[in-house]
Amino acid sequence: KIRGKEFEMMDEITRISVSKLSALLAKKEISAVEAANAYLEKIQSLNSEIGAYISITAETALKQASEVDRLRAAGEKLSPLAGIPAGIKDNICTKGIPTTCASRMLENFKPPYNAFVVDLLEGQHAVILGKLNMDEFAMGSSNETSYFGPVKNPRDTSRVPGGSSGGSAAAVAAGLAAFALGSDTSGSIRQPAAFCGVVGLKPTYGTVSRRGLVALASSLDQIGPLTKDVKDCAMVMESIAVQDKWDATSVCHPNPEFTKGIENGVQGLKIALPKEFFAAVSDEVKNAVLAAAKQYEKLGAKVEEVSIPHLKAAHSACFVISAAEASSNLGKFDGIKFGYRAQNCSSVDDIYKLSRSQGFGKEVKRRILLGTMFLSTGYYEKYYSKSLQIRTLICNDFKNIFERYDLILTPTTPTTAYKLGEKQGDSLDIFMGDICTSSVNMAGLPALSLPCGADSQGLPVGMQLIGKAFDEQLLFRAAYAYEQNANIGQRKD
Ligand code: GLN
Repeated sequence: KIRGKEFEMMDEITRISVSKLSALLAKKEISAVEAANAYLEKIQSLNSEIGAYISITAETALKQASEVDRLRAAGEKLSPLAGIPAGIKDNICTKGIPTTCASRMLENFKPPYNAFVVDLLEGQHAVILGKLNMDEFAMGSSNETSYFGPVKNPRDTSRVPGGSSGGSAAAVAAGLAAFALGSDTSGSIRQPAAFCGVVGLKPTYGTVSRRGLVALASSLDQIGPLTKDVKDCAMVMESIAVQDKWDATSVCHPNPEFTKGIENGVQGLKIALPKEFFAAVSDEVKNAVLAAAKQYEKLGAKVEEVSIPHLKAAHSACFVISAAEASSNLGKFDGIKFGYRAQNCSSVDDIYKLSRSQGFGKEVKRRILLGTMFLSTGYYEKYYSKSLQIRTLICNDFKNIFERYDLILTPTTPTTAYKLGEKQGDSLDIFMGDICTSSVNMAGLPALSLPCGADSQGLPVGMQLIGKAFDEQLLFRAAYAYEQNANIGQRKD
């Protein structure tokens, strides 16, 4: 019986938000070791079913946690993330800990350094529980392309969690991490966040350092948080939005106090609803997001329909740019410089050919082939140059809207989570899952997905708020206002 009660208490720890857990830790009502153990036990009991983690780093996690307890006992002033158990997507480098990108190519890769974001988290004494499953090299939207097997959606384990940060979203939704880091090239944080009913942010390009993130498409990639609620998302951002002098695309964020003013509401804000986004989604998703728009009106915002003419073209162009950049970025995995090396090769050419043939999965090979084609003489002008031109057009579309509006509200995904295997093999259909998210990466803007109800089967629906560059503060404020007043989402405290 007592054991039962203890278990309930442990389980409760894994349900509360980062902000609540942080307060409990600060008051010494629970210790960091207790919190880490609660999460580790839950991972032990659920991970084989959900498949969220590729590696679990229990020993280092407990060491980090006991260090937090020691520092706290010594009266040190600690960061709000000290002692908070987190999971990291497996394309973000962790020193001495496997970083596989969910690929056979990097199955045995142990980076000699941490990604800058990992250094930041460790510096603030967050506790790292392990590395999270994903689509291979972040290519996919269902987490079915992982070499280590799919992740299952904790809301319904017959369904996909979304991707490519499927492990990150599932871990947060199932209480296997208090928060997680993911990466987003055309929707990979927001889309799984929507499918699993959690909050996810793709920050303004340049806000979070990409040093140590294994690149998919360098001009589109951003690291960002997946959390149980909006405030947590802002808190995590406050600790990772730091300029990195070793990443030339990293910038100094002009408004990095993301939690500041989060309670100020949406009175007087002007929110745009671009009709093209709503035409691309199911009725159930559309209705849930329109209901959220009504809610914003009730809260004092002004909501109006607008048009974003180049949405579809931008989505196709995003695929071209992403594949083109990926084909170049993945050139280094050749069995010599990096990655898996095939056995019994009789020549250098053989090493290249066989290592890449055996090391990469199908989807990755498809992207490399397409990307190489898009960049080759004869096709470059037809596909790659055109896509760059479309990129300018979509940037202008957004610019025009933001001349008159503060925020844009759209659905995050065309449908709710679909069944595992339902779309397997049809990579174009799967890529269409990013139709609402990819244009944001093309324009480098910040966008946040948060839960806005459920469909008729009880599956979470996500809505997306898009902001001006570096206007994350306003995104958090608007998302928080909805979350507080709609009384849905993942808040359990
Ligand atoms: N669905 C996108 C793709 O397959 C996801 C990319 C991403 O955001 N990492 O490329």
